[in-house]
Amino acid sequence: MFPSVSELQNLLAQPRQIFITTHHKPDADALGSSLAWATYLKKKGHSVTVVTPSDYPAFLNWMQGNDEVVIYDPRQNDRQVRDLVNRAELLFCLDFNCLGRINELGEYVRQAPGTKVLIDHHQRPENFADVSFSDPKAAATAELIFEIIRALGDQDLIDQGMGEALYAGIMTDTGSFRHPSTSRNVHLIIAELLSANIDLASVHRRIYDSHSEIRLRFLGYILKDKLVVNREFNTAYIAVTKEELREYESKTGDTEGLVNYALSIEGIVLAAVFIDRGSAVKISFRSVGDFSVADFSRNHFEGGGHHNASGGVSNESLDKTVARFLSVLPQYQAQLVSTPTTPVAVAPPVA
Ligand code: 5GP
Ligand code: MN
Repeated sequence: MFPSVSELQNLLAQPRQIFITTHHKPDADALGSSLAWATYLKKKGHSVTVVTPSDYPAFLNWMQGNDEVVIYDPRQNDRQVRDLVNRAELLFCLDFNCLGRINELGEYVRQAPGTKVLIDHHQRPENFADVSFSDPKAAATAELIFEIIRALGDQDLIDQGMGEALYAGIMTDTGSFRHPSTSRNVHLIIAELLSANIDLASVHRRIYDSHSEIRLRFLGYILKDKLVVNREFNTAYIAVTKEELREYESKTGDTEGLVNYALSIEGIVLAAVFIDRGSAVKISFRSVGDFSVADFSRNHFEGGGHHNASGGVSNESLDKTVARFLSVLPQYQAQLVSTPTTPVAVAPPVA
Protein backbone atom coordinates (compact mmCIF):
# COMPACT_ATOMS: atom_id res chain seq x y z
CA MET A 1 0.00 0.00 0.00
CA PHE A 2 2.84 2.42 0.73
CA PRO A 3 5.41 2.82 -2.03
CA SER A 4 8.01 3.59 0.64
CA VAL A 5 7.71 0.32 2.59
CA SER A 6 10.54 -1.32 0.66
CA GLU A 7 12.65 1.79 1.24
CA LEU A 8 11.89 1.51 4.94
CA GLN A 9 12.72 -2.17 4.86
CA ASN A 10 16.15 -1.30 3.43
CA LEU A 11 16.72 1.40 6.02
CA LEU A 12 15.90 -1.06 8.80
CA ALA A 13 17.88 -3.98 7.36
CA GLN A 14 20.66 -3.55 9.92
CA PRO A 15 20.62 -2.38 13.56
CA ARG A 16 20.29 1.40 13.68
CA GLN A 17 20.48 4.29 16.14
CA ILE A 18 16.94 5.66 15.97
CA PHE A 19 15.36 8.89 17.19
CA ILE A 20 11.57 9.18 17.31
CA THR A 21 9.76 12.43 17.97
CA THR A 22 6.22 13.73 17.84
CA HIS A 23 4.37 17.01 18.21
CA HIS A 24 4.35 19.58 21.02
CA LYS A 25 2.04 18.57 23.89
CA PRO A 26 1.64 15.02 22.59
CA ASP A 27 -1.84 13.56 22.61
CA ALA A 28 -2.71 9.84 22.76
CA ASP A 29 -2.10 9.35 19.03
CA ALA A 30 1.23 11.15 19.11
CA LEU A 31 2.53 9.29 22.14
CA GLY A 32 0.81 5.98 21.43
CA SER A 33 2.09 5.72 17.88
CA SER A 34 5.61 6.78 18.96
CA LEU A 35 5.79 4.26 21.80
CA ALA A 36 4.34 1.36 19.80
CA TRP A 37 6.75 2.11 16.95
CA ALA A 38 9.65 2.33 19.42
CA THR A 39 8.79 -1.06 20.93
CA TYR A 40 8.54 -2.59 17.47
CA LEU A 41 11.93 -1.21 16.42
CA LYS A 42 13.53 -2.42 19.67
CA LYS A 43 12.13 -5.89 19.03
CA LYS A 44 13.85 -5.74 15.64
CA GLY A 45 17.20 -5.03 17.30
CA HIS A 46 17.51 -1.26 16.93
CA SER A 47 18.54 1.29 19.60
CA VAL A 48 15.65 3.66 19.99
CA THR A 49 14.92 6.85 21.95
CA VAL A 50 11.59 8.65 21.98
CA VAL A 51 11.92 12.40 22.60
CA THR A 52 8.86 14.60 23.08
CA PRO A 53 9.22 18.37 22.53
CA SER A 54 7.23 19.07 25.71
CA ASP A 55 5.54 17.29 28.58
CA TYR A 56 2.22 15.52 28.10
CA PRO A 57 -0.90 14.78 30.16
CA ALA A 58 -0.62 12.42 33.13
CA PHE A 59 -3.51 10.36 31.71
CA LEU A 60 -1.07 9.11 29.04
CA ASN A 61 1.73 8.01 31.34
CA TRP A 62 0.64 4.36 31.50
CA MET A 63 1.75 3.40 28.02
CA GLN A 64 4.40 0.73 27.55
CA GLY A 65 7.78 2.46 27.21
CA ASN A 66 6.61 5.65 28.93
CA ASP A 67 9.38 5.49 31.53
CA GLU A 68 12.07 5.77 28.87
CA VAL A 69 10.65 8.83 27.10
CA VAL A 70 12.99 11.82 27.12
CA ILE A 71 10.99 15.02 27.58
CA TYR A 72 12.93 17.83 25.94
CA ASP A 73 13.49 20.83 28.15
CA PRO A 74 15.85 23.48 26.76
CA ARG A 75 17.02 24.34 30.28
CA GLN A 76 17.66 20.77 31.39
CA ASN A 77 18.72 18.43 28.61
CA ASP A 78 19.48 20.45 25.48
CA ARG A 79 22.97 18.93 25.05
CA GLN A 80 21.70 15.35 25.56
CA VAL A 81 18.87 15.80 23.06
CA ARG A 82 21.11 17.48 20.45
CA ASP A 83 23.48 14.54 20.74
CA LEU A 84 20.62 12.10 20.26
CA VAL A 85 19.44 14.00 17.17
CA ASN A 86 22.91 14.22 15.67
CA ARG A 87 23.88 10.62 16.39
CA ALA A 88 20.65 9.17 14.99
CA GLU A 89 20.95 7.30 11.71
CA LEU A 90 17.18 7.40 11.34
CA LEU A 91 14.81 10.07 12.64
CA PHE A 92 11.10 9.27 12.70
CA CYS A 93 8.67 12.19 12.84
CA LEU A 94 5.26 10.93 13.92
CA ASP A 95 1.85 12.64 13.97
CA PHE A 96 3.02 16.06 12.75
CA ASN A 97 4.08 17.35 9.38
CA CYS A 98 5.78 20.71 9.84
CA LEU A 99 8.87 21.25 11.92
CA GLY A 100 7.30 24.26 13.63
CA ARG A 101 5.17 21.78 15.60
CA ILE A 102 8.21 20.54 17.55
CA ASN A 103 9.49 23.92 18.72
CA GLU A 104 13.28 24.16 19.15
CA LEU A 105 13.68 20.54 18.10
CA GLY A 106 12.53 21.57 14.61
CA GLU A 107 15.84 23.19 13.69
CA TYR A 108 17.84 20.35 15.23
CA VAL A 109 15.92 17.79 13.20
CA ARG A 110 16.13 19.88 10.02
CA GLN A 111 19.92 19.98 10.32
CA ALA A 112 20.35 16.38 11.49
CA PRO A 113 22.61 14.24 9.28
CA GLY A 114 20.41 11.09 9.59
CA THR A 115 17.62 9.97 7.27
CA LYS A 116 14.26 11.55 8.15
CA VAL A 117 11.09 9.52 7.88
CA LEU A 118 7.67 11.14 8.25
CA ILE A 119 4.67 9.07 9.36
CA ASP A 120 1.61 11.28 9.65
CA HIS A 121 -2.02 11.90 8.75
CA HIS A 122 -2.31 15.72 8.75
CA GLN A 123 -3.05 17.73 5.63
CA ARG A 124 -0.38 19.49 3.58
CA PRO A 125 2.95 18.05 4.76
CA GLU A 126 5.97 20.31 4.73
CA ASN A 127 8.73 18.87 2.58
CA PHE A 128 11.47 18.05 5.10
CA ALA A 129 11.53 14.23 5.17
CA ASP A 130 13.58 11.86 2.99
CA VAL A 131 10.93 9.14 3.15
CA SER A 132 7.29 9.95 3.70
CA PHE A 133 4.24 8.00 4.82
CA SER A 134 1.66 10.74 4.71
CA ASP A 135 -2.01 9.83 4.47
CA PRO A 136 -4.53 12.51 5.44
CA LYS A 137 -7.31 9.96 4.97
CA ALA A 138 -5.96 7.83 7.82
CA ALA A 139 -7.89 8.24 11.06
CA ALA A 140 -4.76 8.30 13.18
CA THR A 141 -1.00 7.96 12.94
CA ALA A 142 -1.51 4.81 15.04
CA GLU A 143 -3.50 3.37 12.14
CA LEU A 144 -0.50 4.01 9.84
CA ILE A 145 1.91 2.44 12.34
CA PHE A 146 -0.25 -0.68 12.42
CA GLU A 147 -0.37 -0.76 8.62
CA ILE A 148 3.37 -0.29 8.27
CA ILE A 149 4.19 -3.03 10.80
CA ARG A 150 1.78 -5.30 8.95
CA ALA A 151 3.29 -4.39 5.57
CA LEU A 152 6.73 -5.20 6.98
CA GLY A 153 5.38 -8.68 7.74
CA ASP A 154 5.60 -8.30 11.51
CA GLN A 155 2.02 -8.07 12.76
CA ASP A 156 2.72 -10.95 15.11
CA LEU A 157 5.19 -8.71 17.00
CA ILE A 158 2.34 -6.44 18.15
CA ASP A 159 1.99 -7.27 21.84
CA GLN A 160 -0.61 -6.11 24.32
CA GLY A 161 1.33 -3.00 25.35
CA MET A 162 1.85 -1.88 21.75
CA GLY A 163 -1.77 -2.75 20.94
CA GLU A 164 -3.11 -0.64 23.80
CA ALA A 165 -0.94 2.33 22.79
CA LEU A 166 -2.18 2.05 19.18
CA TYR A 167 -5.76 1.59 20.34
CA ALA A 168 -5.50 4.74 22.49
CA GLY A 169 -4.34 6.73 19.45
CA ILE A 170 -7.10 5.49 17.19
CA MET A 171 -9.78 5.78 19.88
CA THR A 172 -8.99 9.41 20.68
CA ASP A 173 -8.34 10.63 17.11
CA THR A 174 -11.65 9.17 15.95
CA GLY A 175 -13.49 10.74 18.92
CA SER A 176 -14.19 7.21 20.19
CA PHE A 177 -15.09 5.89 16.74
CA ARG A 178 -17.57 8.59 15.81
CA HIS A 179 -15.75 10.88 13.36
CA PRO A 180 -16.25 10.21 9.63
CA SER A 181 -12.61 9.04 9.53
CA THR A 182 -13.74 5.86 11.34
CA SER A 183 -13.48 3.61 8.32
CA ARG A 184 -14.11 -0.06 7.89
CA ASN A 185 -10.34 -0.45 7.98
CA VAL A 186 -10.23 1.21 11.41
CA HIS A 187 -12.65 -1.34 12.82
CA LEU A 188 -10.78 -4.19 11.17
CA ILE A 189 -7.55 -2.98 12.77
CA ILE A 190 -9.24 -2.81 16.18
CA ALA A 191 -10.36 -6.40 15.67
CA GLU A 192 -6.72 -7.33 15.02
CA LEU A 193 -5.62 -5.44 18.13
CA LEU A 194 -8.17 -7.39 20.15
CA SER A 195 -6.34 -10.51 19.04
CA ALA A 196 -3.30 -9.05 20.84
CA ASN A 197 -5.40 -9.11 24.05
CA ILE A 198 -5.80 -5.37 24.47
CA ASP A 199 -8.06 -4.30 27.34
CA LEU A 200 -10.43 -1.77 25.73
CA ALA A 201 -12.29 -0.86 28.88
CA SER A 202 -9.10 -0.19 30.76
CA VAL A 203 -7.65 2.07 28.03
CA HIS A 204 -10.90 3.99 27.91
CA ARG A 205 -10.97 4.44 31.68
CA ARG A 206 -7.33 5.49 31.92
CA ILE A 207 -7.82 8.17 29.27
CA TYR A 208 -11.32 9.49 29.83
CA ASP A 209 -12.16 8.62 33.42
CA SER A 210 -9.06 9.48 35.39
CA HIS A 211 -9.55 13.17 36.09
CA SER A 212 -8.88 14.99 39.32
CA GLU A 213 -11.84 16.41 41.23
CA ILE A 214 -10.70 19.97 40.54
CA ARG A 215 -10.52 19.29 36.79
CA LEU A 216 -14.17 18.25 36.82
CA ARG A 217 -15.11 21.39 38.77
CA PHE A 218 -13.14 23.44 36.23
CA LEU A 219 -15.22 21.85 33.48
CA GLY A 220 -18.42 22.67 35.39
CA TYR A 221 -17.36 26.31 35.75
CA ILE A 222 -16.41 26.60 32.07
CA LEU A 223 -19.69 25.13 30.83
CA LYS A 224 -21.79 27.22 33.16
CA ASP A 225 -20.02 30.57 32.95
CA LYS A 226 -17.68 30.66 29.97
CA LEU A 227 -19.36 28.95 27.05
CA VAL A 228 -20.62 31.47 24.48
CA VAL A 229 -23.18 30.37 21.91
CA ASN A 230 -23.56 32.56 18.85
CA ARG A 231 -26.58 31.42 16.83
CA GLU A 232 -26.04 34.00 14.08
CA PHE A 233 -22.98 32.02 12.95
CA ASN A 234 -23.83 28.60 14.44
CA THR A 235 -20.67 28.98 16.46
CA ALA A 236 -19.84 28.21 20.09
CA TYR A 237 -16.61 29.17 21.80
CA ILE A 238 -14.84 29.31 25.14
CA ALA A 239 -12.01 31.64 26.16
CA VAL A 240 -10.00 30.66 29.22
CA THR A 241 -7.82 33.22 31.02
CA LYS A 242 -4.48 32.67 32.75
CA GLU A 243 -6.16 33.45 36.09
CA GLU A 244 -8.78 30.74 35.56
CA LEU A 245 -6.09 28.20 34.72
CA ARG A 246 -4.28 29.17 37.91
CA GLU A 247 -7.40 29.12 40.08
CA TYR A 248 -8.27 25.59 38.94
CA GLU A 249 -4.65 24.36 39.18
CA SER A 250 -4.75 23.48 35.50
CA LYS A 251 -2.22 20.87 34.38
CA THR A 252 -1.17 19.71 30.94
CA GLY A 253 -4.16 18.00 29.36
CA ASP A 254 -6.81 19.60 31.57
CA THR A 255 -8.21 21.73 28.76
CA GLU A 256 -8.21 18.86 26.24
CA GLY A 257 -11.72 17.98 25.11
CA LEU A 258 -13.33 21.29 26.16
CA VAL A 259 -13.89 22.15 22.52
CA ASN A 260 -15.98 19.01 22.02
CA TYR A 261 -18.53 20.24 24.54
CA ALA A 262 -18.95 23.43 22.51
CA LEU A 263 -19.43 21.35 19.36
CA SER A 264 -21.93 19.04 21.05
CA ILE A 265 -24.66 21.68 21.06
CA GLU A 266 -27.40 21.04 18.55
CA GLY A 267 -27.03 23.20 15.44
CA ILE A 268 -23.44 24.25 16.12
CA VAL A 269 -21.15 24.00 13.09
CA LEU A 270 -17.98 25.67 14.38
CA ALA A 271 -16.50 25.39 17.87
CA ALA A 272 -13.42 27.10 19.24
CA VAL A 273 -11.50 27.14 22.49
CA PHE A 274 -8.95 29.86 23.26
CA ILE A 275 -6.49 29.24 26.07
CA ASP A 276 -4.26 32.02 27.35
CA ARG A 277 -0.94 30.27 27.85
CA GLY A 278 0.85 33.53 28.74
CA SER A 279 3.41 33.37 25.94
CA ALA A 280 0.62 32.99 23.34
CA VAL A 281 -3.03 32.09 22.96
CA LYS A 282 -3.44 28.45 21.93
CA ILE A 283 -6.55 27.72 19.92
CA SER A 284 -8.48 24.54 19.11
CA PHE A 285 -11.09 24.44 16.36
CA ARG A 286 -13.65 21.77 15.58
CA SER A 287 -16.40 21.64 12.98
CA VAL A 288 -19.02 19.35 11.55
CA GLY A 289 -19.63 18.66 7.88
CA ASP A 290 -18.08 20.60 5.03
CA PHE A 291 -16.74 23.55 7.02
CA SER A 292 -12.95 23.17 6.98
CA VAL A 293 -11.34 24.29 10.21
CA ALA A 294 -7.95 23.28 8.74
CA ASP A 295 -8.41 26.07 6.16
CA PHE A 296 -9.93 28.44 8.72
CA SER A 297 -7.00 28.00 11.09
CA ARG A 298 -4.43 28.25 8.31
CA ASN A 299 -6.03 31.42 6.96
CA HIS A 300 -6.39 33.28 10.25
CA PHE A 301 -4.43 31.69 13.10
CA GLU A 302 -1.13 30.33 11.72
CA GLY A 303 -2.39 26.81 12.19
CA GLY A 304 -3.65 23.74 10.43
CA GLY A 305 -4.58 20.13 11.09
CA HIS A 306 -7.53 18.16 9.80
CA HIS A 307 -10.71 19.14 7.98
CA ASN A 308 -12.89 18.94 11.13
CA ALA A 309 -10.24 19.32 13.86
CA SER A 310 -7.45 21.87 13.80
CA GLY A 311 -5.43 24.17 15.98
CA GLY A 312 -3.65 27.46 15.79
CA VAL A 313 -1.94 30.15 17.77
CA SER A 314 -2.24 33.90 18.31
CA ASN A 315 0.30 36.31 19.74
CA GLU A 316 -2.31 38.94 20.52
CA SER A 317 -4.06 39.14 23.90
CA LEU A 318 -6.89 36.73 24.65
CA ASP A 319 -9.51 39.48 24.19
CA LYS A 320 -8.03 40.68 20.91
CA THR A 321 -7.77 37.10 19.64
CA VAL A 322 -11.43 36.43 20.36
CA ALA A 323 -12.39 39.79 18.82
CA ARG A 324 -10.45 38.90 15.67
CA PHE A 325 -12.13 35.50 15.56
CA LEU A 326 -15.56 37.15 15.77
CA SER A 327 -14.59 39.72 13.16
CA VAL A 328 -13.83 37.08 10.51
CA LEU A 329 -16.97 34.99 11.07
CA PRO A 330 -19.18 37.11 8.77
CA GLN A 331 -16.99 36.02 5.83
CA TYR A 332 -18.14 32.47 6.53
CA GLN A 333 -21.75 33.13 7.43
CA ALA A 334 -23.21 31.53 4.31
CA GLN A 335 -21.26 28.32 4.93
CA LEU A 336 -21.92 28.29 8.65
CA VAL A 337 -25.67 28.65 8.31
CA SER A 338 -26.09 26.22 5.44
CA THR A 339 -24.10 23.29 6.86
CA PRO A 340 -26.31 20.43 7.99
CA THR A 341 -25.22 19.46 11.51
CA THR A 342 -26.10 15.83 11.19
CA PRO A 343 -23.55 15.00 8.50
CA VAL A 344 -24.25 12.27 6.05
CA ALA A 345 -21.60 9.60 6.66
CA VAL A 346 -19.56 8.96 3.55
CA ALA A 347 -18.77 5.29 3.13
CA PRO A 348 -15.05 4.84 2.44
CA PRO A 349 -14.00 2.66 -0.46
CA VAL A 350 -13.68 -0.98 0.50
CA ALA A 351 -9.97 -1.67 1.14
P1 5GP B 1 -5.97 20.11 19.23
O1 5GP B 1 -7.08 21.08 19.14
O2 5GP B 1 -6.43 18.77 19.73
O3 5GP B 1 -4.76 20.65 19.94
O4 5GP B 1 -5.47 19.88 17.74
C1 5GP B 1 -6.35 19.46 16.73
C2 5GP B 1 -5.55 19.09 15.50
O5 5GP B 1 -4.91 20.23 14.94
C3 5GP B 1 -4.43 18.10 15.80
O6 5GP B 1 -4.38 17.18 14.74
C4 5GP B 1 -3.20 18.93 15.85
O7 5GP B 1 -2.07 18.21 15.45
C5 5GP B 1 -3.51 20.10 14.91
N1 5GP B 1 -2.94 21.34 15.45
C6 5GP B 1 -3.12 21.83 16.69
N2 5GP B 1 -2.47 22.99 16.85
C7 5GP B 1 -1.84 23.24 15.68
C8 5GP B 1 -0.98 24.31 15.23
O8 5GP B 1 -0.67 25.26 15.93
N3 5GP B 1 -0.53 24.20 13.94
C9 5GP B 1 -0.88 23.15 13.14
N4 5GP B 1 -0.39 23.14 11.89
N5 5GP B 1 -1.67 22.15 13.53
C10 5GP B 1 -2.15 22.18 14.78
MN1 MN C 1 -3.11 12.07 15.16
